[in-house]
Amino acid sequence: MPLPKAELHLHIEGTLEPELAFALAARNGITLPYADTDELRKAYEFADLQSFLNLYYGLMAVLRTEDDFADLADAYLARAAAQGVRHAEIFFDPQAHLARGVGIGTVVEGLGRALDRWGSPRSSEAESGGEAAHGISTQLIMCFLRDESAGSALETLEAAKPYLAPHGPIVGVGLDSAEVGHPPAKFREVYEAAAALGLRRVAHAGEEGPPAYITEALDVLGVERIDHGLRCMEDPELVARLVRDQVPLTLCPLSNVRLRAVDVLADHPLPAMLDAGLLCTVNSDDPAYFGGYAGDNFDAVREALGLAPERLRELARNSFTASFLEHDEERRARYLAEVEAYEFGA
Ligand SMILES: [Zn+2]
Repeated sequence: MPLPKAELHLHIEGTLEPELAFALAARNGITLPYADTDELRKAYEFADLQSFLNLYYGLMAVLRTEDDFADLADAYLARAAAQGVRHAEIFFDPQAHLARGVGIGTVVEGLGRALDRWGSPRSSEAESGGEAAHGISTQLIMCFLRDESAGSALETLEAAKPYLAPHGPIVGVGLDSAEVGHPPAKFREVYEAAAALGLRRVAHAGEEGPPAYITEALDVLGVERIDHGLRCMEDPELVARLVRDQVPLTLCPLSNVRLRAVDVLADHPLPAMLDAGLLCTVNSDDPAYFGGYAGDNFDAVREALGLAPERLRELARNSFTASFLEHDEERRARYLAEVEAYEFGA
């Protein structure tokens, strides 16, 4: 049985596996520029950030209807459940879909169908004793593309209003895509508007951008978690602040290797970050493209970095501590108790 964990840094568009991409393309009458899943899988071995982004945005063309988004989320949640994920806070990029003529309602209604299905224990699988017998609690976080304009972000927030918590599934806003050259302060206004609406706030910062972007995301955008945040280690004062305030960092180790934030996993600063007292979590980012889901990332850091079982337990505990479960502390306590009770195999 896998270690129970929460996933806090997961782009649903990044869970599109080659088989599903072909199935959705066929359903929607779209011809992909690949002969078959083998050829597409080879394209997933991208060479650099730009070839990843080209493939990532190109394949989104197959996502057109509510059914497509429901099937995408369903496939992710099945894989996540099998790897011990109990709670997932899922990112999506409304602007990337709007640009293709797919409205935010189609995305949210479709994703929501799968999230609702997985929100309670799976009775049929519970009866058969399957590993995915437990349900998964979920929330949605809409991300603004930081290489788009601040005005576009404001329009996107406006369009999302019918789907915001407490009545809808969207609990927060985030900031993703190409970081360098697009500092957090560019989005001050939309984050202020999100705060006024009672939304939670996170942002990608300090992945490829400098540590100053992390400070700016905290000070100007008022974010509660930093996505990635790897480069905080270059600034001891920032590390001291993040430790003091216990600001969660959502690290994505396999993503860092594939996008060359670190050369090899053995060089990943995760152990040093934990030793420094940072509240680190381990997540999968875009698992179909980066070589693995949440449990795969845990396995990879255990092997490459020699993390002891109690370190893994700390990471799992952190994932629930850092999750936006303030509306359901009873659930958080239940998840945390599961982590403490977990027995590591030989
Ligand atoms: Zn990300």
